[in-house]
Amino acid sequence: MVVVGIGIRPNTDLFEGQLTLDKGGIKVNGRMQTSNSSVYAVGDVAAFPVKLFGESRRLEHVDAARKSAKHAVAAIMDPEKTGEFDYLPFFYSRVFILSWQFYGDGVGEVVHFGDFSRNTFGAYWVNKGHLVGSFLEGGTKEQYEALSKVTRLKPAIEDVSELERQGLGFALVVSQEAAAATTIAATWLLVALPSLLLDHYMSGAQLLVLLWQYR
Ligand SMILES: Cc1cc2nc3c(=O)[nH]c(=O)nc-3n(C[C@H](O)[C@H](O)[C@H](O)COP(=O)(O)OP(=O)(O)OC[C@H]3O[C@@H](n4cnc5c(N)ncnc54)[C@H](O)[C@@H]3O)c2cc1C
Repeated sequence: MVVVGIGIRPNTDLFEGQLTLDKGGIKVNGRMQTSNSSVYAVGDVAAFPVKLFGESRRLEHVDAARKSAKHAVAAIMDPEKTGEFDYLPFFYSRVFILSWQFYGDGVGEVVHFGDFSRNTFGAYWVNKGHLVGSFLEGGTKEQYEALSKVTRLKPAIEDVSELERQGLGFALVVSQEAAAATTIAATWLLVALPSLLLDHYMSGAQLLVLLWQYR
């Protein structure tokens, strides 16, 4: 048996002349609302703004379908507390013993890494001097999380051959550095900032009022 993927096309005929169409699907805003604000679209059919790319995309993946649906429900049920959908495009799949994950955008120069004769290998995509996409076959949970983080960070890449040399290690190091920087910033906010304010500007009571206001 041979299975050939010939692509898919959402059936939007029903909405012609009713809703604004875009990229072969239905145009929505960051709250998954169509041009008729009481009609929402999610999943394969929705063309939504992807903040990371600065443009609208239609993503035909399970994760995007689930998360866009969840976001639409939140926007309907709790509009005050629900912001714009901020989604890192993500695709996973499995075929027999192979399983892989992809994050971001597959545009620009492809930088391969790993051993293609073994189980773990992958690729980065570098576009306009920034890492914009990543792919890994046969990774661990920690490695996939690192790829996800590094892709969202879109780090500047000055030397593509150095990125190729570091391979998966690049994602692990950058994501660990980002986590450490977040911890330092949080510690500073919790420990150093209050004592600085107390020393120089305000009483303990004033600080408590300030913290209460911004809780
Ligand atoms: C062969 C194949 C393999 C795939 N593999 C992967 C994968 O490995 N990883 C991954 O992330 N994604 C994969 N995808 C994509 C993934 O399946 C889709 O992104 C996901 O199912 C989209 O969910 P959805 O709810 O938007 O649409 P769908 O799952 O297509 O659901 C739409 C539903 O609407 C129904 N419908 C259509 N028109 C009407 C109508 N007029 N009235 C009532 N009902 C209607 C349809 O029958 C269907 O049940 C694959 C897709 C295909 C086809």
